[in-house]
Amino acid sequence: MRTVDLVIIGGGSAGLSAAVGARKQGVEDILVLERSPYLGGILRQCIHNGFGVHKYKEDLTGVEFAKRIADEARALNITCMCETFALSISPEKVVTAMNPSSGLFTIQARAIILAMGCRERSRGALMIPGSRCAGVITAGTAQRYLNLEGYLPGKRIVILGSGDIGLIMARQFTVEGAKVERVVEIMPYSSGLARNISQCIEDFDIPISYSSTVTQIKGHGRVSSVVVSKVDEKRRPIPGTEFEIPCDTLLISAGLIPENELSKSAGIELSPVTKGAVVDDYLMTSLPGVFSCGNVLHVHDLVDHVSAEGTQAGANAARYLRGEVETSETVPVESGFGVNGAVPQKVRRAGTGKVDFMFRPRDKFPACRICVDVDGVCAATYHRPVLTPGEMCSFSVDRSVLAKAKEKIAVRVEV
Ligand SMILES: Cc1cc2nc3c(=O)[nH]c(=O)nc-3n(C[C@H](O)[C@H](O)[C@H](O)COP(=O)(O)OP(=O)(O)OC[C@H]3O[C@@H](n4cnc5c(N)ncnc54)[C@H](O)[C@@H]3O)c2cc1C
Repeated sequence: MRTVDLVIIGGGSAGLSAAVGARKQGVEDILVLERSPYLGGILRQCIHNGFGVHKYKEDLTGVEFAKRIADEARALNITCMCETFALSISPEKVVTAMNPSSGLFTIQARAIILAMGCRERSRGALMIPGSRCAGVITAGTAQRYLNLEGYLPGKRIVILGSGDIGLIMARQFTVEGAKVERVVEIMPYSSGLARNISQCIEDFDIPISYSSTVTQIKGHGRVSSVVVSKVDEKRRPIPGTEFEIPCDTLLISAGLIPENELSKSAGIELSPVTKGAVVDDYLMTSLPGVFSCGNVLHVHDLVDHVSAEGTQAGANAARYLRGEVETSETVPVESGFGVNGAVPQKVRRAGTGKVDFMFRPRDKFPACRICVDVDGVCAATYHRPVLTPGEMCSFSVDRSVLAKAKEKIAVRVEV
């Protein structure tokens, strides 16, 4: 069995940034495993702009961003094996993978970075009743049909969910000549970026219904209409509020789920909130030497954040390989009022520098501050003009502030 210093699973923006980050910190022996024939991950099907504004200070398409990051990895001679599917990871860091040229093989890794991205919630996961007809697809699949395969999967579209993918697809279907009948969102607000609401919905006069959901799919052979109902504050459909929208396609854009089957195979602890691994401030999981970054860790808004996190995971893996990662005790990080799934979920007491935190706000909070409590006492605050669920909130805390914690650290929003 071959031994490799660092195996990275996933050749999307997180995995490639991790590879670049590790190489720049001196790791020579790096192997990226990517199941698809190409590098770049989900970015390859994102032909719209809005990528790389922070990292490259340019407004790139997803495809351009993917090319840049893949070129950076190639320029550093990082070995990437495409069409290679990682099947499992053992607690001893043995990776089992397969590809058409080598068949099934195993690699003993000294360190591993998990960068497998996420997948979309489907109709089955949402349990929408009605006919089992054609024309019900996820927004990412529709994006793939349109942008990579050249098919228009429908002409009269209803979109369930107003996250970024749903919003982007509403605009794209309109531009391609289809009619987007309505976007239906169960929450009282969109979970997408503010710029996407304005540029994809308002600019194209696409109707959007908040606090509403699809309660029935009708059609024989192909979708012919969907029934939409208003929901109460507990997201339960309100009887008597139903209305029917004729359409031939229902696009589901109702959230992403980190792809953690491999993490489970290794016995890595997962967070019930983020559905990603529980990590410390080195982005190291409960299995020493295994790191996690990008959408497989928690679903991000911007690729720039994914890339920065990947670079950090790569640099930390390099430190681990040099034996420089602190193994001191950790203190748990709790998500308090207004905070959904703060990452990291634990912080090491020893060490120097700053600890970077990220979370999704639970609601829209105008003019608020983020408080970091150390054993119940507010130890640091950060003012924000506004927080919205569609945009990740990030901030850095000096470790000297956190090192005093004996029991717990809590992150909360104060309005
Ligand atoms: C429709 C859409 C619109 C977006 N719009 C924007 C935008 O305007 N601006 C912006 O900044 N960001 C945007 N994003 C977000 C950004 O593109 C993503 O957050 C980012 O690209 C995710 O990178 P990742 O590497 O974590 O995951 P992915 O790109 O999903 O990469 C994961 C990779 O892992 C591989 N993989 C998974 N499992 C295995 C396995 N077992 N073995 C081998 N390989 C495996 C997959 O094939 C994939 O290539 C958008 C995303 C989408 C989907």
